[in-house]
Formats: sequence, structure tokens, C-alpha cells
Amino acid sequence: MRTAEIKRRFLAHFEANGHTVVPSAPLPAIEDPNLLFINAGMVQFVPYFLGQRTPPYPRAASVQKCLRTPDIDEVGKTSRHGTFFQMNGNFSFGDYFKEGAITLAWDLATKPQSAGGFGFDPDRIWVTVYLDDDEAVDIWHKVVGLPQERIVRRGKKDNFWSMGIPGPAGPCSELYLDRGPEYGREGGPNVDEDRYLEFWNLVFMQYEITNVKDKETFDVVGELPAKNIDTGMGLERVAALLQGVDNLYEIDEVRPILDRAAELTGKTYGARSSHVAAESHPDDVRLRVVADHVRSGLMLIGDGVTPGNEGRGYVLRRILRRAVRAMRLLGFEEPAFPHLFPVARDCMAPSYPELAREYDRIAQYAYGEEEAFLSTLRAGTTILDTAIAQTKASGGNRLAGEKAFQLHDTYGFPIDLTLEIAAEQGLSVDEEGFRRLMAEQRARAKADAQARKTGHIDLSAYRAVLEGGGPVEFTGYTEVSRESRVRALLSGDGAPLSAAGEGQLVELVLDATPFYAEGGGQQPDLGTITVGEGLLEVLDVQSPVPGLIVHRARVVRGEVRAGETGFAEIDVTRRRAISRAHTATHLVHQTMRNFLGEAATQAGSLNAPGRLRFDFNTPGAVPPSVLHDVEQQINEVLLRDLEVRAFVTSLDEARRMGAMALFGEKYGEQVRVVEVGDYARELCGGTHAARSSQLGLVKILHESSIGSGVRRVEALVGLDAFSHLAREHLLVSRLAELFRVPPEQVADRVEQTVAALRDAEKELEKLRAQLVLSGAAAIAAEAVDVRGTAYVGTEAPEGAAMSDVRTLAQEVRGKLDPSRPAVVAVAARAGGKASLVVAVNQAARARGVSASDLVKGALSGRGGGNPELAQGGGVPAEQAPALLDAVRQALP
Ligand code: ATP
Ligand code: MG
Repeated sequence: MRTAEIKRRFLAHFEANGHTVVPSAPLPAIEDPNLLFINAGMVQFVPYFLGQRTPPYPRAASVQKCLRTPDIDEVGKTSRHGTFFQMNGNFSFGDYFKEGAITLAWDLATKPQSAGGFGFDPDRIWVTVYLDDDEAVDIWHKVVGLPQERIVRRGKKDNFWSMGIPGPAGPCSELYLDRGPEYGREGGPNVDEDRYLEFWNLVFMQYEITNVKDKETFDVVGELPAKNIDTGMGLERVAALLQGVDNLYEIDEVRPILDRAAELTGKTYGARSSHVAAESHPDDVRLRVVADHVRSGLMLIGDGVTPGNEGRGYVLRRILRRAVRAMRLLGFEEPAFPHLFPVARDCMAPSYPELAREYDRIAQYAYGEEEAFLSTLRAGTTILDTAIAQTKASGGNRLAGEKAFQLHDTYGFPIDLTLEIAAEQGLSVDEEGFRRLMAEQRARAKADAQARKTGHIDLSAYRAVLEGGGPVEFTGYTEVSRESRVRALLSGDGAPLSAAGEGQLVELVLDATPFYAEGGGQQPDLGTITVGEGLLEVLDVQSPVPGLIVHRARVVRGEVRAGETGFAEIDVTRRRAISRAHTATHLVHQTMRNFLGEAATQAGSLNAPGRLRFDFNTPGAVPPSVLHDVEQQINEVLLRDLEVRAFVTSLDEARRMGAMALFGEKYGEQVRVVEVGDYARELCGGTHAARSSQLGLVKILHESSIGSGVRRVEALVGLDAFSHLAREHLLVSRLAELFRVPPEQVADRVEQTVAALRDAEKELEKLRAQLVLSGAAAIAAEAVDVRGTAYVGTEAPEGAAMSDVRTLAQEVRGKLDPSRPAVVAVAARAGGKASLVVAVNQAARARGVSASDLVKGALSGRGGGNPELAQGGGVPAEQAPALLDAVRQALP
């Protein structure tokens, strides 16, 4: 039975039993900060189980895409662990409980295939239950009719489920199928989990727990008023069972990838393994790893994850790299993904059609990552191999942490790979040393960044100011000046000051301020603050701890005292130019997504007066024609004179409205949304223009790469954009004048001129060659007789090309009498070096004279060619005559 059919039967069974079918959530579990990827079907229903939200249906069923990073090391070695897999699940929210869950599962598992079930033989099914869950034992035994000896009681570790936090928890019951003696030892799931394959886990959420120390240590508060059901059936595991194959990697959705990898590497899969996964040949394990990881990579990129150095991006990178590594270990060193990914796509697209639609994007990331990693591997492996050899030679069995760190730091060689390669060579790695060096480097980078931002002040001084008066109110969304009390004055090193005098640099905190602190890519406001007779010039504004706004300022005049009331006024021209840039950034973001797709998300930005920088994720360069269209669309939006509006709402509401949020950013419950008419809507704390028309003009300058999969555009806004265009116009006018053509013909003219110049250079070269050769007859005439051989020794004109020198030697030889032995030696000087070409005719060859021997003799071995024509060089130019002399001396 094909995987798609198993999926269909599962959903049909539960739909017929009153369940609402809910689609799979995407793999990146954005709602839960502790989880990088969805790892079970229940994850998207957690708020219902925790009572945070009312479920819209009492029963649900789904087929959820899952990714389990912790299982990565099991892949291929057991028969039942994939990184990516699909979990079929049925859920009850306070509706049916144990008996319902058990009988629904049993029915589907054992119903004959002709009646829409899976048709598992009831006599081969085993179940496990939690130690004291007599209720479940009774249902299995009395209601279902399963004999007691196939009901196994297990402890907390295996059969008690909780989330590791206070809340719902409960016993589970798992269904296993006995695959028979060829798969392992007799005795049930306690003895062999590969022969007895778990395919379905039923969780009975029955208790509320508290005082949770870990998954096995907690107190039970009591029974839950509304009990829930959460089940998970591994789609791939059931497919393996129903397709009669040994493991997950041999089912219809995975096997074609494995076969293609075997074909590429010339391996015969399975030839040296038995049915028992643990006894597999390493090559078979590697082929399974390739198949699994390629499929997982495809699914992850399909769901918008891109390779990176942390978080989700790193998991993806690690999976892709492991696939590349496995292919290399199988002996295939060229790029393999272009062969493998299309196969994976064809396996999965019937269930996930977006994979076919989005394949170009997916392929760009996957292939690009493979190529980059292959070159890292080439460089790193050599260095690592040397380090391993040295370690072994010195009798050690442990690779130094410094070496591992250097490989990582300088060559981007991943530590897990270092560990793996070292282990293959029987070495361990000083991981602790490696981690210490990593931590030191991280601390250095952090201290550095901190020092730049906060002027070396220890954050505790700021915390004290914050605690003393609460959060500072930012009033700059609606006003540009403000009267407010000076809450604190700090010196450059964080010491509180009661007053500061002329010339002094201070940090000043007001109770409320219109000054925007640098953040969200937006540059700070500048301006002035007057306090009594004192005047301060604000040089920078930062928020070193959330809730606090700190003005870094110089006292220009008079004296400033803490506790007095001051008047803060921002530089309005600067602020407006920054706000225009910020609004323009939102338009660039939205428009890029319009043209490049939803995955073109912001990766960083800078909003400065009149200019912006916008970094975003996209696999390759953005073609100039697309950039042009983006620019055009943005400027059309400006003309629509859209209102820019900001409002505060709940995070959920903002998401519903489709507001763009930064990937991986943490937001509070209440968020600020900025919208430009109906065109762009984004979560943002920055300041903006009031209407799109105020931006005047947006000019994109260029687009470039700033890392794999991350591009940067820079743009000018308003007057700055205008001045730029005006300058370019002047430049074109000047070129038009110089070339004496109308501006629109300048480009053609430059092209023509360059082409003409190139032709002229070629012509010149030809003439030079002719010049060299034209002398051939005259040179031949100067042949002298050396012990019966006609010998010509001459120097080519300075700077002659080596090919011309060779031709010259042959031309001269052709002009000499072929019936007499003849040797032609031509020396040439170029770039401070001398070279030598020797040509020998047949008559001289017959006497045993060899051109290559003569060249090697003259140049002490440095040269080569054949007996008739040879060349060499690399000695100082002054030695040219000596070379000719040497040839002459060497003649017989
Ligand atoms: P195991 O002990 O075999 O690793 P598990 O206890 O981790 O399984 P659950 O967390 O109960 O599994 O997940 C529910 C179901 O999902 C399992 O019964 C199994 O069918 C499937 N499953 C779990 N992990 C994987 C995986 N890595 N690959 C494929 N299917 C899996
Ligand atoms: Mg597991």
C-alpha cells in the first residue's frame, strides 16, 4: 500500500468517526520559542490542551510534517528513525478518552484492507501500557481481546507523557507489530524494539502535574476535569510494515532517492546486510542517510528554512552537509544534489504540490549549499588530515581543541564533522578545549559590541536608573520637543553625577523624551537639550536596557544639574529624512516579496537620513530587470499618496491581518503595526513619514551578496535620491560632450570605442609577430659552421611573445639546408627573465642531437619539449647571451 493511500485511509477513518481534518502546520514551529521544528502532531494543538484557547472542534485528525533533530544519529542505523517524518494523529479535546482512543486505533490497524483498514494480523500486535494503568490493561484485554502476555507494563521513561512543565500529563499506550524472527530476538518490545516495531503511540492526558524537576520527577496534583487524547502514528513506519520492506528508507517515498544515490556511487544496496538493521553494512547505512537527509532538506527548504549558522538554518545546514559527507564516503565527490533532489521532489510532490511549484527556489539553496560545502571540505580535509597524522605521529590519540577551533574559525569546517572524521581515524577531540575557545571568542565579540554601544558602562548603572523611575516614555511618535525632568546624569564610566559643566561628555536620562534610540535598524535622533542655562548637544541615543532611553551628549554651554527640568528638541530635518527612509524600507520589503515570493524576508536593515540598506533572504542575485520593476512599483506607490498609519494591537490580531514580522524575532503580546495604505503592513517600532508621497522618490543603487542566501540592496530616498540622479545626469552630459554624441548614444559609443581598441591591440600583436618572423631569412643567412653543424644563435626582439619565439626558431630552421645538420637557438627577454627555444633538424637528429637535451643543459634542467623543439626559461634576463653560448658549446 502506497504511503499516500495510508494517509488517505487514516484521515477517512477518523473523519467518518466525527473528527475534523486539520492541515499540517509548517515545519518551523514559530509559535514556540523553545522548539525549532514541529516534532509531533500535537504541537499545533498545545494551546487547546493547556486550556489557553477553546478548541473549535471536540475531535481532530491530521497528518503533521515533523522533524526530530535528536534522532539524527539513529538515521540508517535503526530501521525506524527519520529526521523528517509524517505523524498521523487523532485528538480529543475533553471528548472521548481511553476506550475511544484504543478501539479507534485497533479498528483501523486490524480492519481488513478490503474494508479500508490496514489489515495487520491481530495476533502479531503487542502493546505497552504504563505500570499502574489497569484501566488501559482492562480495555486491551477485555474490550479488544488482546491476551495478557502481549500487554507489557513499562515505566515512566517509556510510557508516561508530559511536556516537562506543570500542566497536563498522563500515561501512554503504544502499539507494536512483531515483524518476525528474521528481524531480531523473541520476547516483545522490552527485548527488541526493531523486531517489535512501535508504530502508534496513544497518550491519555489524564492528570495535572506540578513541581516538575524533569520528565520523570514531578508531583501529580489530581485528575484533569477535561481529559484529552493525543495520538501519533508514524506514517513511514506503517508504510514500511505494509510494503513489506525492512525500514523507513525503503518505502515508496524514500527508496527512489536511495536507489539514485546507489547508482551514482556504484553500490549495490543491501547486498551485504541482513534484515536486522543493527547488522547493516556501513555503505548501506550511508545510502539511507543520504536518502533521509535529502528528503528532509527538501521539506525544510520547502517550508522556508534556509541554510545558516544558527537555529533552524543550522539544523538544515547540518542535515545537508551530512548528506554530502555520506556521498563522499561512498566515493562520490562531485555535486550530487542536482541528481538527488529532483528524485526527492518527485517522491513528495504528489502529497505536497508546492514542492514542485517552488522547486527552482529550493534547488538554488540546496545546490548552492552543496557547492559551498564541497569547497570547504576540500580545504579543510587536507588540513585536518595533516593534523590527524601529526597527532598520531607524536603518539597522541586526541586532537587538540585549538586545531578544531582553527578549522572552524578559519575554514568554516564544522565541529561535528571534525569529530566524525577524527573518530573514523580512531582519535578523540578535545571538545572541551574547543568549546572554551569558542566561548572566549563569543565573549570577546560581545564585549566589543557592548563597548561600542554603551561606552563601556557596566549595565548595572542603567538598571539602577531604570528601577529608580520606571520605563522612560518615548513621545517621539507624535512630538518633536518636550519638557521633562532630568532623571539622571552619568559620567562616561557610569558614575552618577549631580551636575556637569561646559565641555563635559555625559549620559543623560529624562523621564520622557522625543528622542528615538537607535533600534530596529533606525538610526538615533540628534538634537539639543537645554536645562536652565545649560545647553547640551545630543550626539547619540541608545537603549542599553529595555525601557531606558539614554542620551549621550556634550555640554556646550553653562551647567546642567540632575533633577532639574529640561527641554529636549530633536533635529527635525534629520528625523524626517530618517523616517522617510524607514517607510521606504517597508516598501522595499513588501515589493521584494511581491516579486520574489514570500521567502524574501528581511534579514537586517539600516534607516539613515535619506538612505537605506535592506538585507533579505533569497537564494541568488536579483536580476537587474527585477530590480528595475521593484523600483518602478515602489515609485508608483509613492504617487498613490497612501496614508501611513501606526496602531497597537495583539500579536494574534496582527498575524491575522497578515502583518510581516521578522523571522525569529520575539514579540510581546501587544505589538505596534505600521501600515502604508493597503500596500504594506509590518510590525515595527520605528518612526515614519505621514504619507507615501512625502518620500518623493526612491532610487535603488545596487544589489549585492553579503553571505550565502542573503542579498543587500541600498537605496536613496527623497532629495538624496534626486541629487544622485542629478549627479549622474551631469556625468552622462559630460561623456556625451566628450564623445560628441547625444546622451542616449553614449553607451553604444563606448562599446564601439572599446571594441576598436581591442582590434587595434590585436593588429599590433600581429604586426609584432610579423616583425619577428620577417627577419628569419636574414638570421638564417648568419648560420655558422660548428664542427660540421650549421648553427644559428640569435636573440628575438625584446618583449616578443613566447609563441612567436617558437615560430621564429622553426622558420629559421626551415630556411637552412635540410641535407646538413642544423641547430637553431633563439633567446628572448621578457619581464626581466630570459628564455630559450632550440629547434633541431632531421639531419642533426640523425647525429644524436636533441633539442630538449640542449635546453636542459643550458638551463640546468629547467625546460622541456621534444627532441626537435624544446624550450625553457626563468633565469635573469642578462643571461640570454650565456644561454646561446651554452648551446653552441654543447654541440657535438
Ligand atoms: P521511538 O522510541 O521508536 O524513537 P518515540 O517514542 O520517540 O519512538 P513518539 O514520540 O511516541 O515516538 O512518536 C509517535 C510515533 O511517531 C511513533 O510511534 C512512531 O511511529 C513515530 N516516530 C517517532 N519518531 C520517529 C522518527 N524519528 N521517524 C519516523 N517515525 C517516528
Ligand atoms: Mg524517539
